[in-house]
Amino acid sequence: MDITSGLPESFNPASYDMIVVGAGYAGSVCARRLAESAGFRVAVLERRGHIAGNAYDCTDEAGILIHEYGPHIYHTFDERVHNFLSRFTKWTDYQHKVLANIHGTLMPVPFNHTSLKLAFGEVRGEELYQKLVEAFGENKKVPIMELRKKNDPDLQEVADYVYENVFLYYTMKQWGQTPDEIDPSVTGRVPIFIGDDDRYFPQAPFQGMPAEGYTKLFEHMLDHDLIDVYVNVDARDILEITDTNVHVCGKCYGGEIIYTGPLDELFNLDLGALPYRTLDMVFETLDVDQYQPVGTVNYTTSEDFTRITEFKNMTGQVVPGKTTIMKEYSHAFEPGSGQTPYYAIIDPENQALYERYLERVQNLTNFHPVGRLAEYRYYDMDAVTASALDLSDEIIATHA
Ligand code: FAD
Ligand code: UDP
Repeated sequence: MDITSGLPESFNPASYDMIVVGAGYAGSVCARRLAESAGFRVAVLERRGHIAGNAYDCTDEAGILIHEYGPHIYHTFDERVHNFLSRFTKWTDYQHKVLANIHGTLMPVPFNHTSLKLAFGEVRGEELYQKLVEAFGENKKVPIMELRKKNDPDLQEVADYVYENVFLYYTMKQWGQTPDEIDPSVTGRVPIFIGDDDRYFPQAPFQGMPAEGYTKLFEHMLDHDLIDVYVNVDARDILEITDTNVHVCGKCYGGEIIYTGPLDELFNLDLGALPYRTLDMVFETLDVDQYQPVGTVNYTTSEDFTRITEFKNMTGQVVPGKTTIMKEYSHAFEPGSGQTPYYAIIDPENQALYERYLERVQNLTNFHPVGRLAEYRYYDMDAVTASALDLSDEIIATHA
């Protein structure tokens, strides 16, 4: 693999069987699979100055490995995804834990057996826990919006507490809307856990951090003789979609195109902008060994930021006397402002707008939108990898 900054004059799209737009999970997984399984020559175009998309990590001035675009913790239930990614990295056995700062008391999130006792006291907490076990069973996950539907007064007491103290203020900060107003699948990502497992991803069989970091994982994934990577290249400068064809550098392109950017951008937002939330991330290096007890503390009843992440707690890196933390401030994404569209806002109206953009490319048999942006989905890394593996299989099958 070569990584080149900018497109050389000699760049000839026709010398590649596939052009990939974006070097995040979606693009890099497709590039690797098609290079190794179909013998495709692949050009990956990435508008940032680096590979790895939002999973990019790097060392800051204090020598601490940070996640430039927010804390990324790998976890999956999908063995195929895990086997594929494990070809490019070893994993640490890091098990992500999150505490919610609720009026000054730190309680595990997802809200669980321990949290109940911290919130309601040993005796009442245990009583309520037994009620939850009776209603749902032990080691079960219950989304807050499900729990709120229960008529039982004890269950309602728990639901009200968790809604008010874990979800309401945090969700207002993150989405500018209440948990009632947003799609239930969003708060459903962090269900109440009826059990003692205090990990953020209870029961996920594969979890950890890439031993040498995410960027290294991507270097290994893209390291293939048939893959060339061009960074600092905005594909929109050379890509044009017509009703019937895809043009690259002014000529009709006959190879495959994997597109992992936002679909609205391809059409200059002419049907309107797809709404997103973005984040301002504020990094700070402190002269202490450790700032907080776990990787992430969610501020669910106070502060303007949503959460603080301390990277050393997640990566296990040892740097005596220094630590880097990061606060996330969420707000509406303004198209054309240079901000990063981090979170699609899942609702029927936005989905309908997305579908209208999608319709415009659906007849183009060699153009494949895939990934968190291009599919306008709230995908984790493993789900993006799964989607890219599925797409790769389809393309490989058509070329067999
Ligand atoms: P991206 O990573 O966004 O990659 C797309 C790439 O395409 C970008 O690098 C972009 O620059 C490039 N691109 C776009 N348009 C163009 C263009 N016109 N020309 C050239 N290049 C272009 N997932 C987890 O599993 N665990 C976590 O803990 C986790 N934490 C997260 C925290 C935050 C704050 C965020 C925002 C996401 C988190 N995720 C997490 C989700 C994870 O980041 C995504 O699932 C994954 O990175 C998506 O990969 P992708 O390839 O679809 O998109
Ligand atoms: N959430 C919350 N309080 C928490 C954790 C999560 O209200 O302590 C809600 C919030 O709406 C958030 C969503 O659940 O956006 C999903 O949380 P997750 O941690 O999965 O978000 P991400 O890591 O993707 O930002």
